[in-house]
Amino acid sequence: MKILVINSGSSSIKYKCFEMPERTVLASGLCEKIGEPGGRITHRAAERQTKIEQPFPTHAAALEKVLDLLTGNGGALAHKEDISGVGHRLVHGGEAFSASVLIDDEVIAAVRENIPLAPLHNPPNLLGVEVGRSLLPGVPQVGVFDTAFHQSMPPEAYLYALPYELYRTSRVRRYGFHGTSHAYVARRAAEFLQQPAEQLNLITCHLGNGASMAAVRGGKSVDTSMGFTPLEGLVMGTRPGDFDPAIILYLMENQQMDAAQINKLLNKQSGLLGLSGKTNDMREIEALAAAGDGPARLAFAVYCYRVRKYIGALTAVLGHVDALVFTAGVGENSSAVRATSLTGLAELGYALDPDKNASTRGTEADISAASSRARILVIPTDEEIAIAEQTYAIITR
Ligand code: AMP
Repeated sequence: MKILVINSGSSSIKYKCFEMPERTVLASGLCEKIGEPGGRITHRAAERQTKIEQPFPTHAAALEKVLDLLTGNGGALAHKEDISGVGHRLVHGGEAFSASVLIDDEVIAAVRENIPLAPLHNPPNLLGVEVGRSLLPGVPQVGVFDTAFHQSMPPEAYLYALPYELYRTSRVRRYGFHGTSHAYVARRAAEFLQQPAEQLNLITCHLGNGASMAAVRGGKSVDTSMGFTPLEGLVMGTRPGDFDPAIILYLMENQQMDAAQINKLLNKQSGLLGLSGKTNDMREIEALAAAGDGPARLAFAVYCYRVRKYIGALTAVLGHVDALVFTAGVGENSSAVRATSLTGLAELGYALDPDKNASTRGTEADISAASSRARILVIPTDEEIAIAEQTYAIITR
């Protein structure tokens, strides 16, 4: 059965077509600069890469071209009718969705209601759904939410100590994100350890350009580092993670910054980029630090210190931790971040095997020392396959 996975952003569409349940990737690609000059699609199928450069005025025009590429001469599919289901990444399901769903008009209305909570993400996500429905009529479309996995958090974890009225009337609370990734690596970790997920306490560390951690008890998220938006928690490529919210008032009152400037500061100019003054890319931070660049060293240190602090916090949340899982670009690849973040945590139950850590990059591995109370794992994430699996499960049930 062929499943198409779509991640529709404001000016881009990422896609991947799978043969399920085999999980074979038939084709994948990225449409960029939709609605802008310089539109292009990079399409990969059967180890061949095709580049199309032409303007795509709308998401519909771009997806139409993707379907041509999928079904064209030597394409992955004979006809677009071969597609049995479409899985959509949807960022914010608010409190309405604790699992993936078959998309109907009611689901679309509910996602639309959550637009104020994710103004940058939910509108282009919905556009992808609309285009999917119109270009592939009658094909089931499934929504997989970034927030759904964290809906199992208890109130003490998801409530801010703000007036309760704000939660009751405006749903101001912690939601958490990267849920598809946390859920996927938690399940893979249980498989890796050959233990039932229901019996495991895990801390999952998704360290990519965006970064978050989750405490997972018995397969369910009980706390996570991101909050109302994906700004809270860890240091990220261009976002600061935790900081005192009074800094915003200070900047407004003393530096005459307006909401748009503060939004840019917090989403685009902070994190590794803000601290180093040079780059948001951890590979470059590490290279600069190794060459003696002071600000890059500081950025690296602040990043790892914050990860360590959250490991401590989530260890306390769970009480007992069976395994700590590193995933995403930094987590899977950077032995330096893993080693620095875990420095001094042997008493808490986390001891790395330095050789195993140094030699592990992008593959599933146990990198803990024999003496470590908790296993320390590297599990590469794959949000697309997770969306394909959920889409397949929903349309075949
Ligand atoms: P993601 O958002 O999951 O694609 O992760 C992107 C981040 O992973 C970027 O900051 C990359 O620099 C980082 N990354 C990828 N490979 C490495 C590596 N070998 N060492 C350190 N960081 C890496």
